[in-house]
Amino acid sequence: MKVQQLVILAALMACGAAQAEIHGYADGPKLPGVPYCVHDPARPQPRIITTGGTVVVKAPSDAVVLFDGTSLDAWTPGWILKDGAMVAANRDIKSKESFGAIQLHLEWRLPAGREVDGQGGGNSGVFIMGLYEVQVLQSNNNKTYPDGQAGALYGQLPPLVNATSPQGEWQSYDIAFEPPIYKKGKVTQPAKVTVIHNGVVLQHGETYLGPTQHRKLASYPATHPETAPITLQFHGDPMEYRNIWVRPLGKRDLPN
Ligand code: MG
Repeated sequence: MKVQQLVILAALMACGAAQAEIHGYADGPKLPGVPYCVHDPARPQPRIITTGGTVVVKAPSDAVVLFDGTSLDAWTPGWILKDGAMVAANRDIKSKESFGAIQLHLEWRLPAGREVDGQGGGNSGVFIMGLYEVQVLQSNNNKTYPDGQAGALYGQLPPLVNATSPQGEWQSYDIAFEPPIYKKGKVTQPAKVTVIHNGVVLQHGETYLGPTQHRKLASYPATHPETAPITLQFHGDPMEYRNIWVRPLGKRDLPN
């Protein structure tokens, strides 16, 4: 290997090369398989696209409706019901029902007029099984470390593109998730997720390295629940949610 190649390799292996306008962590652990670290501000920014905005999908007949605009009863207490939306406040909330493999639809927005800067001002998150975050962040006209922007598997994998709508507009997530499979105490298939944002694929059958961590490399625990509640994150910001429903995904029907 030539000296020049070594220099390039060393630069690629260093984390958090200076990007003055992006807050991140230059001291994070290295992620496997890519030349980036957890919350690396130097990781390439996903391409910005515009979309048609929120895709409203009515709950199918076999869905468990977690919020239809009228009641917070499906959730632990803490958030506020306002004008047909759930407004984040006080603490994280959990669905009273537990789920494993699911299809999940929800819509979210950050009200207009709030100052947003990186991870601050417009942050929430969908924690599937209370463990695996699909990041919710007002990422339109707001740069942050790529594994922390809207639709990122937080701290692990940025979205394919930045499809975030302008602040104040509703936007949709459609998520399909499978929990990890354990055999004899070992993970034989990691947790798997597909994320569609405003009708655009951000994550396509990607896998989690383990339950979401902040500034740490994720890994799988020795034991894992089969089902668990969905958590919605309160990160200090009044993120709003509406039209939340889940379809538990069973095993494929056997042929007759
Ligand atoms: Mg978050």
